[in-house]
Amino acid sequence: MAEHIKCLIIGSGPAGYTAAIYASRAGLAPVMYQGSQPGGQLTITNDVENFPGYPDGIQGPQMMQDLENQARRFGTDIRFGMATSVDFSVSPKKVVIDESTELTADAVIIATGASAKWLGLESEKKYNGLGVSACAVCDGFFYRNQVVAIVGGGDTAAEEATYLANICSKVHMIVRREELRASLIMQKRVLNNPKIEVHWNSETDEILGDASGVTGARLKNVKTGETTDLTLTGFFVAIGHKPNTDIFKDYLNLDEAGYIQTIKGSTNTNIEGVFACGDAQDNIYRQAVTAAGTGCMAALDAERWLAANELH
Ligand code: NAP
Repeated sequence: MAEHIKCLIIGSGPAGYTAAIYASRAGLAPVMYQGSQPGGQLTITNDVENFPGYPDGIQGPQMMQDLENQARRFGTDIRFGMATSVDFSVSPKKVVIDESTELTADAVIIATGASAKWLGLESEKKYNGLGVSACAVCDGFFYRNQVVAIVGGGDTAAEEATYLANICSKVHMIVRREELRASLIMQKRVLNNPKIEVHWNSETDEILGDASGVTGARLKNVKTGETTDLTLTGFFVAIGHKPNTDIFKDYLNLDEAGYIQTIKGSTNTNIEGVFACGDAQDNIYRQAVTAAGTGCMAALDAERWLAANELH
């Protein structure tokens, strides 16, 4: 017989842990499967200075450990393991963990997050957290009055380039084509900002560095093959995010980019008893604090749904 769980939480970022804290305090006996990267994207961030309540900032991994401890304190059963497939066409819902263990669940809270896309360079991995970042809002502050680069030509790159230009002395924007994908208003902001220099038709050949971290980047012009070395200390990658929602696509309404569509003003999905929170359903804000907020909403929505269906 498959184990039956009243409230299953899939994913362990700020959304998942916040849902766990609320669900366990509400007596839902939640079980959480942490996924392939326990703690989520914040475990690859250094200092978090914009989460309210930490006046001196906190290290990302420590913050996630604190959230985990808080969820455990109220009795959340936190387990290693990754949800590898689901069947939401039945009631209770079926979820398979690590391709082997089948569970059934009344309510499912999806908090699987999103993953930043990377260029795929060895040097990008080597200097991750040592000058390479995929989040200007998280890490831009550490490059105050310094020279940085940002890769990408979409709205995120344009928005983050503008954000960085307010903090840094200069922003090199590395764009692989001769035009930006960003909306016109964002393009104007970038092109009219004297602190932003756009390098058109350019790819990153290598991120340069030493023991202290990033010191520069080598660009290659895709039309002429010419290479140029830039001197800088921060290298931001903004080429998009991919929500971790592939296993749900046969059941849940997703947008074109794969984000789960929730019903306005709630965390309800198109399937009764399945709730989505955090970056798996948010391609706009993508902050730890907003993820935590929607995690709280998901637990409250799940509790109400379980009560209304006399499952709690
Ligand atoms: P995006 O629109 O997919 O843009 C990705 C950018 O990265 C494109 O310029 C793309 O170049 C470039 N790129 C992709 N892979 C690359 C690689 N390997 N090397 C170099 N460059 C690469 O992603 P996004 O900017 O994150 O935006 C995602 C969605 O959120 C969009 O719908 C966007 O409008 C929305 N968004 C809206 C706002 C806002 O309204 N305030 C803010 C942020 C995001 P190509 O153009 O050549 O493909």
